[in-house]
Amino acid sequence: MRDDIHRILIPGEMIADRVRQLAAEITRDHTPPRVSGEAEVTIVPILTGALVFTADLIRAIPLPIKINLMTVSSYPGQSVRSQGVSVLSEQLRDVKGRHVVLVDDILDSGQTLATVKPLVAKLGAASVKTCVLLKKQLATKAAIDADYVGFEIPDEFVVGYGLDFNSVYRNLPDIVVLKPHVFAP
Ligand code: 5GP
Ligand code: MG
Repeated sequence: MRDDIHRILIPGEMIADRVRQLAAEITRDHTPPRVSGEAEVTIVPILTGALVFTADLIRAIPLPIKINLMTVSSYPGQSVRSQGVSVLSEQLRDVKGRHVVLVDDILDSGQTLATVKPLVAKLGAASVKTCVLLKKQLATKAAIDADYVGFEIPDEFVVGYGLDFNSVYRNLPDIVVLKPHVFAP
């Protein structure tokens, strides 16, 4: 797996620092009086990409949060361009009246968040914020912006720290760019 890495874009230690800062921002914004009454916060990772990011993020948020899962796919199999967003499964029955923070690995076209955010709002969430670890710099044409952004990155296909190519590389501790031979048929 190490032989497939072209270059490390963001080392794991740098990710860890930024994740703690994002957690602090989310905590501040979801603590009364910033939110009304009891802060009932639900974190919703958009799986599978947000799995690793969310695991680190939630452990730095000292609030009594709940977690609901949803699985969305837009880059099935060996694709490196979005194939359109499909919600594969969701367990969002309990978000009514709660402050929801949607967590995704990366904001590219914005189609994922633009699809999912209204869905959560329609279920009666008290508020819906969005948090992404990465945002592609060319995401100016994005359908939606995120409330919390970890890093802006160049418009390159990246893997690691939860992000995959063909379902592999999610367990790399760094965000990396792969060598071209990986994509060759
Ligand atoms: P959007 O819907 O904003 O175009 O894209 C968001 C989703 O596309 C992300 O959740 C992620 O699954 C996938 N994606 C976008 N860019 C990349 C990338 O550079 N690498 C990988 N592995 N996935 C990406
Ligand atoms: Mg994703």
